[in-house]
Amino acid sequence: MMKPTEGRTVDNLHEIKYTERRNTVIESDAKERIPMKVTADLHTHSSASDGQYPPEELVRLAASRGLTVMALTDHDTVEGIEPAVREGRRAGMTVLPGVELGAAEHRSLHLLGYAFDPASPAITDLCRKLREGRDERKYRIIDFLKEKGVEISLEEVEQTAGGAVIARPHFAQVMVRRGHVATVREAFDRYLDTEEYQRIERFKADAATCIAAIRAAGGHASLAHPCQLKLPEEEMATLVRRLADAGLGAIECFYPAHTAQQVAFYRKLAEKNGLQVTGGSDFHGERVKPNIALAAWPLELDWLLG
Ligand SMILES: [Zn+2]
Ligand SMILES: [Zn+2]
Repeated sequence: MMKPTEGRTVDNLHEIKYTERRNTVIESDAKERIPMKVTADLHTHSSASDGQYPPEELVRLAASRGLTVMALTDHDTVEGIEPAVREGRRAGMTVLPGVELGAAEHRSLHLLGYAFDPASPAITDLCRKLREGRDERKYRIIDFLKEKGVEISLEEVEQTAGGAVIARPHFAQVMVRRGHVATVREAFDRYLDTEEYQRIERFKADAATCIAAIRAAGGHASLAHPCQLKLPEEEMATLVRRLADAGLGAIECFYPAHTAQQVAFYRKLAEKNGLQVTGGSDFHGERVKPNIALAAWPLELDWLLG
């Protein structure tokens, strides 16, 4: 005779199998009615800008997490795209060319470009100008930190960047290594993300120019992490309308820091302005941004992949 516990286990197993079968049927029915969703992370950084992992490694990591679509969106560079796309093919996942551009209007107004031709001068020329701006800024950052009593060497920052675009996390990492601060976060809070720091800003193009460059290269532009703009809803709505008029194609509605209310608000704004919905983690690697893991948002991307 079967022990009661065994019986229950078998029953449960049947139940689970039955439910699984039923869900499969429901899902495949639904696929015919609603646009198919894919598991995606459309906002990631590699060591071509300020991320921890080389592009190929980042793609393998994304594939191992079960993502079907990933976009590599390094700051001001398309350098990592070719190796990432190649590795994506090998790993059986779609890797979209991407980029993240900081617009001049606001320090947190960032635009993501997707699915453009990475060889197009429209995008490579703008990236080069933005990188030159950063390059010149590095001397100003060193001087600024020195004024604050934090002496670090530019050579060490450059070594940390390893030939990639020099960005604030590279300065922060050296500051941690040299014991000026305990964490990267502290480096940002006390020095690199302050009002005073903003005075040494670099060359940036305005949002309309960034969007135009992405579109001229055959791509789509999405407004990155709208929450970081910290705008009241009214102003946010005005900004989105203005960007939509300039050719914006989507809003990054899904982002780790977004609350459920924010997601709902951004989705409403997207719908109102005829924009698509994107989502990304802003993954830089555990060493650079310890609390941000790769995301797996269910997104409808026919408009982007088609
Ligand atoms: Zn950003
Ligand atoms: Zn980013």
